[in-house]
Amino acid sequence: MTNAFENAMLQLNKAAKIMGLKKDFLNSLQKPQRILKAEISITKDNGKTEKFKAFRVQHNNVRGPFKGGIRFHPNVSLEEIKALSFWMTIKTAVVGIPFGGGKGGIIVDPTKLSKTELEKLSRAYIKAFYKYLGPKIDVPAPDVNTNSQIMDWMTDEYSKLTGKKQPAVITGKSIAGGGSLGRDTATADGGFFILQSLVKNLKLNPKNTKVIVQGFGNAGANMADSLYHAGFKIVGVADAHTAIIDPKGKGFDSHIIEKIKSQNGRVDVCTCNKIYCQCTNHKHLPTQKILEQSCDILILAALENQITEKNVKKIKAKIILELANGPIAPQAETVLLKKGVIIIPDVLANAGGVTVSYFEWLQNMKNQKWSRNQVRTKLKPIMIKAFGDVQKMAKKYKTDLRTGAFISALEKIIK
Ligand code: NAD
Repeated sequence: MTNAFENAMLQLNKAAKIMGLKKDFLNSLQKPQRILKAEISITKDNGKTEKFKAFRVQHNNVRGPFKGGIRFHPNVSLEEIKALSFWMTIKTAVVGIPFGGGKGGIIVDPTKLSKTELEKLSRAYIKAFYKYLGPKIDVPAPDVNTNSQIMDWMTDEYSKLTGKKQPAVITGKSIAGGGSLGRDTATADGGFFILQSLVKNLKLNPKNTKVIVQGFGNAGANMADSLYHAGFKIVGVADAHTAIIDPKGKGFDSHIIEKIKSQNGRVDVCTCNKIYCQCTNHKHLPTQKILEQSCDILILAALENQITEKNVKKIKAKIILELANGPIAPQAETVLLKKGVIIIPDVLANAGGVTVSYFEWLQNMKNQKWSRNQVRTKLKPIMIKAFGDVQKMAKKYKTDLRTGAFISALEKIIK
């Protein structure tokens, strides 16, 4: 199996070939502008020192400061962070916000750290890289296993090290720490606006449309909520621990899933709305099996490389929306496209998150506070326009939506 960066380059090369991109321009995008690596150490609660590998990759800043999240995960690798930083360069251009692409990460299992240790680790990350960060240089944000609390610690550390308060250095902060209202739901909101537009074009009735959501964190849970409120039938959900389907197709209530998850730490839901219910209204599956269940729309909101050559032939969804980054391997995508599956690519589908991060940065820079409603009202037209541009490019070059998105982005970067 190819790694995430190799996958990203396959996608880039495909778009470059179709649009006839100049070689020197292509070469400049095949390598990040800067790769920063550090070994950071913290003193643990038991008095012992532990070391962690940390990365910040600054892929491209021709359209504005580097922009991208920081991931805490045991499987973080430099190749993964390079891929994610490249996708940020494409993503920020797809939605036309004045940022480039960057990404960071630490190889760590944060569930094994206490709150004090997590704070020390977050601050150590900033100590290692702060000279390369700044509101007009490189603006990090949350990603998998990082949240507004971690962003607040990091912003505070940056301010201490530079000697002045600069909330615009990091986005995804708590509201009290200078975060934007609406950032918590932005990734899902952006994907939902696009899905709504697609469903309308295809004349689908939400009430008869079955959806499965893989991943029930920030992106997946908020998407499930929007889908539920719009009347879609959520017939399957999965997190890292379990997968549940509703074979009768009645549909789960997103609030109940959320409640059960917060009580129980996993999405152990039933349409009877009971935890560990013994009835036949739901079925437990091994986590990865959720992808192979029958549905109209599959929302991928967990991690990369979920649909690969190994399971692609078993995928039954007709529409796939990538809220996660890189969840479909290129070889698997070729198979799905041949079957006529519509894939809304990550660089478009999850770009609502970085768009509202841009709104947060703007509010911090201008010392303003926007309401949740203002944020959503500004986000929708950006997402709909980006979707329109992507569809136009896909049509012009007779290609798929991902390649259309890449071409749309590359044209903006060239300009
Ligand atoms: P999160 O940590 O809040 O949630 C991740 C969820 O995925 C959790 O519910 C976890 O249990 C689940 N999961 C992990 N492995 C799984 C597996 N094998 N099968 C099923 N579920 C699994 O993370 P998030 O912020 O929701 O991010 C999810 C994805 O969306 C990532 O790829 C991230 O890069 C992408 N993304 C997130 C944002 C954002 O604003 N949160 C923005 C852009 C892209």
